[in-house]
Amino acid sequence: MGGISDFIQENRNIREENRQRKPIHERFIEFHAHDDEQIVLNAVPGHFATIQSHINYYVDVTSMKVRTKEAREAAKHLASKMLHKIEVVDTIVCMDGTQVLGAYLAEELEKSSFSLSGAARESIRVVCPEVNSVNQLLFRENIKPSIQGRKIFLLLATMSTGETVRQSMECIEYYGGDVVGVSSIFSTREVVQSTLVFPLFTIEDLPGYESYKPADCPFCKKGIPIEAMVNGFGYSKLR
Ligand SMILES: [Zn+2]
Repeated sequence: MGGISDFIQENRNIREENRQRKPIHERFIEFHAHDDEQIVLNAVPGHFATIQSHINYYVDVTSMKVRTKEAREAAKHLASKMLHKIEVVDTIVCMDGTQVLGAYLAEELEKSSFSLSGAARESIRVVCPEVNSVNQLLFRENIKPSIQGRKIFLLLATMSTGETVRQSMECIEYYGGDVVGVSSIFSTREVVQSTLVFPLFTIEDLPGYESYKPADCPFCKKGIPIEAMVNGFGYSKLR
């Protein structure tokens, strides 16, 4: 019965289904942070791939990265979460294009009781590292003084397996920085290598979010094609 022709038909059906689907940006669903209604992220269910895993939601945090009002609100919220848990921040290292949020966060931390370990009159530094082809952070000579011997807060857009964070922390330590905390706008974890993670959105805000090893991905097993490649910067459609 069927065999190969059933398989071909099923594949045709899947392709047709995907063709009729609306584009990703038209399928965004809004999610509100459970402790602050004003902070919103968008997510789309589907089949997506990151460098390390396959995921069933693309989580979009663009508004908090590019819109000043949203970034300021998110920074305020983040600073209040860090209060009494982290006391000293010298430098914020911004990954995934989070530098607008990073600058507002620096402003918020300076307004409250956070202090610097360096010279008392200095302000918090905000740094965006270069990333090489094997995902290692690169700090040039002019930026090294902002890392070496400094208390570092690492800021990212999204985190699923935590692998990128681990690698970034290793690189910062290689340059002599001490990572005192991490924040990812969306995170599946609250600790990475005994360092506290302060997410604005967790898995509780996005019920049903799953990340799979590519070999165990249920969508791949059903032959459902990957819709887009995603990383902290955003998504690139594959079809
Ligand atoms: Zn898959």
